[in-house]
Amino acid sequence: MIVAFKERVEPITLSKLKVLNKRLVLSDEEKRYLSNLDKGYQGELQFDAMTETLTSSCLILNELLLEVEKATFQIDTLILFADTLYIFEIKNNHGDYLYKQEGLTSLTTGASIKNPLDQLNRTKLLFKKLLNQLGYNFKLQGSVVFVNPEFTLYQAQPDLPFIFPTQIKRLITHLNNQLGKVSTNHYKLANKLVSLHQTESPSNKLPSFNYDELKEGITCLECESFSVTASHKFLECDDCGGRELLETAVIRTVEEYKLLFPNRAITTSSVQQWCMVIENSKRIRRILSKYMAMEGTRKWTIYK
Ligand SMILES: [Zn+2]
Repeated sequence: MIVAFKERVEPITLSKLKVLNKRLVLSDEEKRYLSNLDKGYQGELQFDAMTETLTSSCLILNELLLEVEKATFQIDTLILFADTLYIFEIKNNHGDYLYKQEGLTSLTTGASIKNPLDQLNRTKLLFKKLLNQLGYNFKLQGSVVFVNPEFTLYQAQPDLPFIFPTQIKRLITHLNNQLGKVSTNHYKLANKLVSLHQTESPSNKLPSFNYDELKEGITCLECESFSVTASHKFLECDDCGGRELLETAVIRTVEEYKLLFPNRAITTSSVQQWCMVIENSKRIRRILSKYMAMEGTRKWTIYK
């Protein structure tokens, strides 16, 4: 198994929506958006699991958000081989679709989605531009990979750069047969691209929310229930019986707070209020000082 040169992290919009979905009533549209983001991300992870099995000499860069001439573009997966760079656009749609150049139409719902080739072509064009600016002249290949085994695309011509679920194994074999070894030049390019990678700006599709509207409390790690009890050492779920170390549960819940309110101070009292189930503030203070950096005097400590 090879480790990616650049790992994929969960998109921040998805992380936020997941937390909001537990603590706020989302509209149907917001729930659909969350579900689509989650499906997309799961599909990407599925493809990562396959590229990790590659045995040829290569560098894998997962999820790059780049900019060239004021245009931003995203590469789901980039793999550098000795003489070719491969761009993969990953799709996790399922069901039966009909291919047309202007879009893919679902045969069950009639809804249309954009032709992923448009995005792939744009990404290739902009990436080529960026490579030229950086002084590289590698051969560039791009494909759209459909990872969901329950996906069918009718009337897609065989010469289109689509890779269907039944062809992924052969893709991996093909990638394993790439000749040559990556050199310091490839490492230089990989490092440069990682340094140019931008962090995602939180999407404006996120619902607006105030602290007061959110449900406070710690949720069960297993089933997300708010019906939990803090015992001496553990957090126990009244619904599923799941058990977690109390300090892990508190820190996990503080992370949710930080994600939703990056500008709010983390203090013993704010965490106690946010977590709800721990009556003794000394326990909170002990956990925070064990896992987080402190700032300020004892009475007004802020944790980072
Ligand atoms: Zn539970």
